[in-house]
Amino acid sequence: MDFALTDTQQMYTDTVSKFVKNEIIPRVMTMEKDHTFPWDIIRKAWEVGILNLSIPESVKGYEVDIVSTALIIKELSYGDTGISTSAMCNDLANAVIAKHGTDDQKNAFLSPFAENPVLASFCLTEPGAGSDNSGMTTFIKKNDNGTYLLNGSKCFITNASYASQFTVFCKVGKPSGNLIACVIVPAPLLLPGDVTSPITEGREVFPPRGGKIIIGKPEDKLGQRLSNTAAVTFEDVVIENDQIIGDRRQGFKYIIDVLDYARPMVAAIGVGLARRALDVTLAYTRERRQFGQRICDLPVARETLVKMWKMVELADLALMKAAFKVQEGAPDRGIYASLAKNTAAEAALFCANEGLHLHGGYGFMSEYEISKLARDAHIVDIYEGVREIQNMIIGREIV
Ligand SMILES: Cc1cc2nc3c(=O)[nH]c(=O)nc-3n(C[C@H](O)[C@H](O)[C@H](O)COP(=O)(O)OP(=O)(O)OC[C@H]3O[C@@H](n4cnc5c(N)ncnc54)[C@H](O)[C@@H]3O)c2cc1C
Repeated sequence: MDFALTDTQQMYTDTVSKFVKNEIIPRVMTMEKDHTFPWDIIRKAWEVGILNLSIPESVKGYEVDIVSTALIIKELSYGDTGISTSAMCNDLANAVIAKHGTDDQKNAFLSPFAENPVLASFCLTEPGAGSDNSGMTTFIKKNDNGTYLLNGSKCFITNASYASQFTVFCKVGKPSGNLIACVIVPAPLLLPGDVTSPITEGREVFPPRGGKIIIGKPEDKLGQRLSNTAAVTFEDVVIENDQIIGDRRQGFKYIIDVLDYARPMVAAIGVGLARRALDVTLAYTRERRQFGQRICDLPVARETLVKMWKMVELADLALMKAAFKVQEGAPDRGIYASLAKNTAAEAALFCANEGLHLHGGYGFMSEYEISKLARDAHIVDIYEGVREIQNMIIGREIV
């Protein structure tokens, strides 16, 4: 076993770290306050080559391995977890095409991302089907001419207002059906230059093959305000056979595959956030003096800093183990992905909350970054499966 990064992994880490230092950290507080969608940063990330990591080399993608992907997402999250969530969502939506699509589907649905800085959405959650996604009611129904019509509504969809393509999980035949399919809905490409001011309202999109997609007004969120989140409704959207990924009865299996991939990535988001919270708190408590000493030298405060450091390191270990397991396709990868997700969420929440506390009253002021990190941290414990769902997966496997 070797804990050292390969030269390539070190190069990825250094590149993203430099990107974060130059492009994100100097602007993040202003952008976040204004709830500005960071299109120009996403475009630059695409130019640098840290977006669309799951796209195969056969369609001119980077085909980055899972461990390196986790390192990149972790480093990007150190800058801002809204931006890394938006970036990661492209891979969430595209990984299922990369893994289960035909060569023609990879060409048709992945090439646009290799060629342009465009965004994708992964559409699973519905108003009535969150943790229990088997309760989804969005469905495709076959027409007499052999095509299908897609109807239904999804909620909390990352990138939706800016998306050029939607990966949609839906029932087959009827809303109450048992089988789930995965379909790809391309929309007219939306490039950064097409949007001159942030999208603040809902919009309608007309997919080339027919039907309508209604995107809701962007959600006003507690945290991760640099990611875009909105509801998406599909109205009689025409789906042809070449838009159905793999076997149209195996969608549930594809969801599990994507979530095994996504959970270490959310863990990477949590570790990046936790480390940032630790670092800004160390910097603050080294400067601020009370009782004639630096706050970081007061024994009880030092104890909290040590606990924060330990939680970051443990979450990082859990993340790396999960990433290796998923990369190897190990049969027990699912429980390690869940362990990493929960451990990282716990570290993110602990470091952000305790970090805020060590800032005293200043931590409660919005101009201090720790207050933003405390708002951002909550979602790590929620999306890609709430804490209880991860525990359910671990519990089911170990007994
Ligand atoms: C900012 C943001 C971005 C998101 N992006 C996407 C996206 O891009 N695509 C997408 O498809 N979805 C996305 N989601 C949705 C997200 O994955 C869901 O919100 C999440 O899975 C939880 O579902 P829910 O909100 O319906 O909560 P519910 O399922 O209603 O759960 C509410 C609470 O009930 C409890 N609970 C639920 N189930 C159990 C159980 N089995 N045992 C014990 N307690 C339980 C937990 O405490 C849980 O927190 C996003 C959400 C947010 C907020």
